[in-house]
Amino acid sequence: MRPSRSLLTIVAALAACATNPRIVTPVRIIDSSPTPDPRPFHIAGDNPFVLPARAEWPGPNRVRTASGAPGPDYWQQRADYTIAATLDTSAKSVNGSVTIRYTNNSPDTLRFVWMYLEQNLYRPGSHGSAIFPQDSRWGVRGFQGGFDLADVRVNGSSVVPRVDDTRMRLDLPEPLAARGGAATLTMRFSFRVPEHGSDRMARDSTLYLIAQWYPRMAVYDDAHGWNVEPYLGQGEFYLEYGDFDYTVTAPAGYVIAGSGALLNPGEVLTPERHMRLARATTSNIPSAIIPASEAVARPEPGTKTWRFRAENVRDVAWAGAPDFRWDATSANGVLTQAFYQWPKAGPQWESAAAFTQWTIRYYSERFSPYPYPQATSVAGTVGGMEYPMFVMVHYSDTDSTSVFRTIDHEHGHEWFPMTVGSNERRYAWMDEGFNTYINAFSFEAHYPGQSTWERTIQNWQAVVENHTQSPLMTMPDLIDPTALGAIGYRKPAAVLMTLRNQIVGRDVFDAAFREYIRRWAFKHPTPADFFRTIENATGTDLSWFWKGFFYSDDVLDIGVEYMHARAGEPGDTLTEITLRRNTSIVFPVTARLKLADGSLRELRLPVEIWARTDRYVTTVRTPRSVVGIRLWPDGTVPDFNAANDIWGDAPPAEPHRPVTADVGNGGRGTPR
Ligand SMILES: [Zn+2]
Repeated sequence: MRPSRSLLTIVAALAACATNPRIVTPVRIIDSSPTPDPRPFHIAGDNPFVLPARAEWPGPNRVRTASGAPGPDYWQQRADYTIAATLDTSAKSVNGSVTIRYTNNSPDTLRFVWMYLEQNLYRPGSHGSAIFPQDSRWGVRGFQGGFDLADVRVNGSSVVPRVDDTRMRLDLPEPLAARGGAATLTMRFSFRVPEHGSDRMARDSTLYLIAQWYPRMAVYDDAHGWNVEPYLGQGEFYLEYGDFDYTVTAPAGYVIAGSGALLNPGEVLTPERHMRLARATTSNIPSAIIPASEAVARPEPGTKTWRFRAENVRDVAWAGAPDFRWDATSANGVLTQAFYQWPKAGPQWESAAAFTQWTIRYYSERFSPYPYPQATSVAGTVGGMEYPMFVMVHYSDTDSTSVFRTIDHEHGHEWFPMTVGSNERRYAWMDEGFNTYINAFSFEAHYPGQSTWERTIQNWQAVVENHTQSPLMTMPDLIDPTALGAIGYRKPAAVLMTLRNQIVGRDVFDAAFREYIRRWAFKHPTPADFFRTIENATGTDLSWFWKGFFYSDDVLDIGVEYMHARAGEPGDTLTEITLRRNTSIVFPVTARLKLADGSLRELRLPVEIWARTDRYVTTVRTPRSVVGIRLWPDGTVPDFNAANDIWGDAPPAEPHRPVTADVGNGGRGTPR
């Protein structure tokens, strides 16, 4: 279907006007009674102010409080890993062993545990290979692989794993005690590295991008018990926190970049590179650890073992190549790095260390301090895809802005979900959505005068028009793949920005959002924990907002139905304005009135005007007659039908301004 012009395109075309209009107050309200409603989406008797009882909005308890914070009995499991792996570039495989110290902090005795074996996506007949076309982004491209496991033990005793697609159940020889019982799981593993093209990890000639590479614990939590959704190739990862000590043994000519701190630079780097790295660690100016002149594959006999340690992370990933360029610098003490093959990655990658530095510094100052010692960006054929301290950025980003945006997005994930460990398998909006929301701030700061807002709204509008929309609460695996960018990323970002700019106010929302990060850092928040934290920290009951924008796939469409003059007292005029809500979504109204002398007045109406009706009639008193009206004059309310937002000789919309500014566009939200 041909997309129509968006509201924002239309308002952008209108001339700017200098305004500081006075606010008018309704003098008379006629509340029309509700009428039977033939509209699609609208469910009779479905009060927009009352949230339905949902599994995602359970009653508060001692684990998760009514204020949205972790409760006194909050618990989560812990998984600490020691991994020794070898990259075999002749067999094009990774093999190694893993030891997992698993701590059961739950109140439940466990008699079995579930683990993930994501490499089994590449086994013939896997769930994922049946769902996504072979040659699509998420397809396996005919590659056949999967994990080979050996010597699987629990506390030293052999156990027989029950493998089901990308999951594995281990029956424990002894029950694992509640509240602190620990078990040690060990096994050997190997897999052939998928050929280039696979979206989450791959080999591209001599470049290895390695993730989902060791058997790992599924999450056991108070919301769902074991979280064991099969890995389909496109899905994200919900994982436990812990510490990782891992080694990668690779051909001696290889350079390995990975999650965590490199523990033995003196063993794996030449003295000169080691010295350059030490200097970069304390310099704000990017410099080369391996300059272009040295980024050449040279055969070297033997192997080297690279040692990394990553604390308080959900995962680790790494990459290796014999011909990386390597740039590094510091962002307030965090080592920020870029690894890229040259000249294949393109000249825009010479800015990648600086982009990474910008991102880590910006989000640290704006939202919460980056909690890890380093941040690495690697160019290749994968992604973009995020892992703790480590992101993969696809070569298809061929200009500076797109490389910046991908690095900024992928490292934005260090906050969501690496720091705030929500369940990204079930709630894309708490991961991709929150990340896209913070990306808008970074982008507007990095490119003053530019904004992502219009593209965000247009993308949301496109899935509305082609009927691929689904509610934000939809599990990502069930969202139409062509709509995932809109529903998983852009709509939630626009919705949060709307909540901030139009409803609760910028300062109040920013503080509430930071409080959510503070409360849930290195924990597992649920949707209700977010909703409750925002309501508590802003002092606002937002049931109608969550219901309209998170639980429904309806769109906002409030319009001016009618406006006419009424008889007034001498010296002023009365104008009756009829507003109509055309969908189930309620919203506070901001309107700008133009008077006969050209002056402007503001009309602000709280969301409660829609409590009992979908038609609202009010009368305003003004010194001159009202000649026109415009709803949402600041141009950043996501009302999807612009045609009914103006009446008569409507005043012009405001010029576009950055949507992430701390003040602007009329200041605080509408009164409630
Ligand atoms: Zn993302």
